[in-house]
Amino acid sequence: MKDDCIFCKINKKEIPSYTIYEDDDFRVFLDINPITNGHVLLVPKKHIENMFELDDKMIAKIYKTAKKVYDILKEKLNIEGYTLIQNNGHGQDVKHYHLHLIPRYEHDDVKYLSNEKQLVSVEDVFEQIKN
Ligand code: 5GP
Ligand code: ZN
Repeated sequence: MKDDCIFCKINKKEIPSYTIYEDDDFRVFLDINPITNGHVLLVPKKHIENMFELDDKMIAKIYKTAKKVYDILKEKLNIEGYTLIQNNGHGQDVKHYHLHLIPRYEHDDVKYLSNEKQLVSVEDVFEQIKN
Protein backbone atom coordinates (compact mmCIF):
# COMPACT_ATOMS: atom_id res chain seq x y z
CA MET A 1 0.00 0.00 0.00
CA LYS A 2 1.18 3.49 -0.85
CA ASP A 3 -0.33 6.37 1.13
CA ASP A 4 -0.58 8.88 -1.72
CA CYS A 5 -1.89 6.38 -4.31
CA ILE A 6 -5.50 6.85 -5.42
CA PHE A 7 -6.03 3.18 -6.32
CA CYS A 8 -4.57 2.03 -2.96
CA LYS A 9 -7.12 4.38 -1.36
CA ILE A 10 -9.89 2.77 -3.43
CA ASN A 11 -8.63 -0.68 -2.40
CA LYS A 12 -8.72 0.40 1.26
CA LYS A 13 -12.22 1.86 0.66
CA GLU A 14 -11.02 5.31 1.75
CA ILE A 15 -12.36 6.47 -1.61
CA PRO A 16 -15.60 4.87 -2.87
CA SER A 17 -15.76 2.94 -6.11
CA TYR A 18 -18.35 1.07 -8.15
CA THR A 19 -16.76 -2.35 -7.67
CA ILE A 20 -18.26 -5.05 -9.91
CA TYR A 21 -15.86 -7.88 -9.01
CA GLU A 22 -13.41 -8.55 -6.20
CA ASP A 23 -11.21 -11.42 -5.01
CA ASP A 24 -8.06 -11.79 -2.87
CA ASP A 25 -5.81 -10.33 -5.56
CA PHE A 26 -7.87 -7.83 -7.53
CA ARG A 27 -10.60 -5.21 -7.45
CA VAL A 28 -12.46 -4.40 -10.67
CA PHE A 29 -14.38 -1.11 -10.68
CA LEU A 30 -15.99 1.31 -13.12
CA ASP A 31 -13.69 3.95 -14.60
CA ILE A 32 -14.91 7.47 -13.67
CA ASN A 33 -14.29 8.64 -17.23
CA PRO A 34 -15.50 5.70 -19.35
CA ILE A 35 -14.77 5.17 -23.03
CA THR A 36 -17.84 2.93 -23.38
CA ASN A 37 -20.59 1.81 -21.00
CA GLY A 38 -19.12 -0.69 -18.55
CA HIS A 39 -15.48 0.42 -18.95
CA VAL A 40 -13.77 -1.01 -15.87
CA LEU A 41 -10.27 -1.09 -14.42
CA LEU A 42 -8.73 -4.33 -13.19
CA VAL A 43 -6.49 -3.31 -10.29
CA PRO A 44 -4.24 -5.46 -8.07
CA LYS A 45 -4.88 -5.06 -4.34
CA LYS A 46 -1.12 -4.82 -3.81
CA HIS A 47 0.58 -1.61 -4.94
CA ILE A 48 2.38 -2.58 -8.15
CA GLU A 49 3.44 0.34 -10.31
CA ASN A 50 3.40 -1.14 -13.80
CA MET A 51 3.66 -4.33 -15.90
CA PHE A 52 7.42 -4.58 -15.40
CA GLU A 53 6.86 -5.24 -11.68
CA LEU A 54 4.37 -8.09 -12.21
CA ASP A 55 5.52 -11.65 -11.54
CA ASP A 56 4.48 -14.51 -13.82
CA LYS A 57 1.79 -15.73 -11.42
CA MET A 58 0.11 -12.32 -11.38
CA ILE A 59 0.37 -12.02 -15.16
CA ALA A 60 -1.54 -15.28 -15.57
CA LYS A 61 -4.12 -14.28 -12.96
CA ILE A 62 -4.78 -10.97 -14.72
CA TYR A 63 -5.90 -12.64 -17.96
CA LYS A 64 -7.93 -15.22 -16.06
CA THR A 65 -9.71 -12.46 -14.16
CA ALA A 66 -10.22 -10.38 -17.31
CA LYS A 67 -12.03 -13.36 -18.84
CA LYS A 68 -14.23 -13.76 -15.74
CA VAL A 69 -15.16 -10.10 -15.94
CA TYR A 70 -15.94 -10.48 -19.64
CA ASP A 71 -18.54 -13.11 -18.71
CA ILE A 72 -20.13 -10.73 -16.19
CA LEU A 73 -20.25 -7.85 -18.69
CA LYS A 74 -21.57 -10.12 -21.43
CA GLU A 75 -24.36 -11.35 -19.21
CA LYS A 76 -25.30 -7.96 -17.72
CA LEU A 77 -24.62 -5.52 -20.57
CA ASN A 78 -24.69 -7.85 -23.54
CA ILE A 79 -21.32 -6.60 -24.78
CA GLU A 80 -20.16 -7.56 -28.26
CA GLY A 81 -16.40 -7.27 -27.90
CA TYR A 82 -13.61 -6.42 -25.51
CA THR A 83 -10.70 -4.02 -25.99
CA LEU A 84 -7.89 -4.10 -23.45
CA ILE A 85 -5.54 -1.16 -22.94
CA GLN A 86 -2.73 -0.84 -20.44
CA ASN A 87 -0.35 2.09 -20.04
CA ASN A 88 3.14 1.94 -18.53
CA GLY A 89 5.34 4.95 -17.82
CA HIS A 90 4.64 7.80 -20.24
CA GLY A 91 0.90 7.81 -20.93
CA GLN A 92 0.09 6.25 -17.56
CA ASP A 93 -1.75 8.75 -15.35
CA VAL A 94 -2.22 6.55 -12.28
CA LYS A 95 1.02 4.87 -11.25
CA HIS A 96 -0.66 1.77 -9.82
CA TYR A 97 -0.98 -1.02 -12.39
CA HIS A 98 -4.40 -1.20 -14.02
CA LEU A 99 -5.75 -2.93 -17.08
CA HIS A 100 -8.55 -1.10 -18.89
CA LEU A 101 -11.32 -3.55 -19.84
CA ILE A 102 -13.39 -1.73 -22.43
CA PRO A 103 -16.64 -3.30 -23.62
CA ARG A 104 -17.30 -2.92 -27.33
CA TYR A 105 -20.66 -2.57 -29.02
CA GLU A 106 -21.68 -2.41 -32.63
CA HIS A 107 -21.56 1.25 -33.83
CA ASP A 108 -19.79 2.40 -30.64
CA ASP A 109 -17.62 4.88 -32.60
CA VAL A 110 -14.52 4.11 -30.52
CA LYS A 111 -11.34 5.32 -32.19
CA TYR A 112 -8.04 3.62 -31.57
CA LEU A 113 -4.91 5.53 -30.52
CA SER A 114 -3.85 7.84 -33.29
CA ASN A 115 -0.93 10.20 -33.79
CA GLU A 116 -0.81 13.19 -36.17
CA LYS A 117 2.95 13.48 -35.83
CA GLN A 118 5.11 12.70 -38.88
CA LEU A 119 6.92 9.43 -38.13
CA VAL A 120 10.07 7.91 -39.58
CA SER A 121 9.43 5.15 -42.10
CA VAL A 122 8.66 1.62 -40.97
CA GLU A 123 11.78 0.47 -42.89
CA ASP A 124 14.01 2.88 -40.93
CA VAL A 125 12.55 1.75 -37.62
CA PHE A 126 13.14 -1.88 -38.58
CA GLU A 127 16.79 -1.05 -39.44
CA GLN A 128 17.22 0.31 -35.90
CA ILE A 129 15.63 -2.66 -34.18
CA LYS A 130 16.82 -5.69 -36.12
CA ASN A 131 19.99 -7.52 -35.12
P1 5GP B 1 -4.23 5.64 -17.28
O1 5GP B 1 -4.12 6.87 -18.11
O2 5GP B 1 -3.34 5.71 -16.04
O3 5GP B 1 -4.08 4.38 -18.04
O4 5GP B 1 -5.74 5.61 -16.78
C1 5GP B 1 -6.18 6.07 -15.54
C2 5GP B 1 -7.69 5.85 -15.51
O5 5GP B 1 -8.13 5.95 -14.17
C3 5GP B 1 -8.47 6.89 -16.32
O6 5GP B 1 -9.26 6.23 -17.30
C4 5GP B 1 -9.33 7.61 -15.27
O7 5GP B 1 -10.60 7.95 -15.74
C5 5GP B 1 -9.37 6.61 -14.13
N1 5GP B 1 -9.46 7.19 -12.80
C6 5GP B 1 -8.65 8.16 -12.29
N2 5GP B 1 -9.01 8.44 -11.02
C7 5GP B 1 -10.05 7.64 -10.72
C8 5GP B 1 -10.86 7.47 -9.55
O8 5GP B 1 -10.69 8.11 -8.53
N3 5GP B 1 -11.84 6.53 -9.62
C9 5GP B 1 -12.08 5.80 -10.74
N4 5GP B 1 -13.08 4.92 -10.70
N5 5GP B 1 -11.33 5.92 -11.86
C10 5GP B 1 -10.34 6.83 -11.85
ZN1 ZN C 1 -1.33 2.00 -5.18
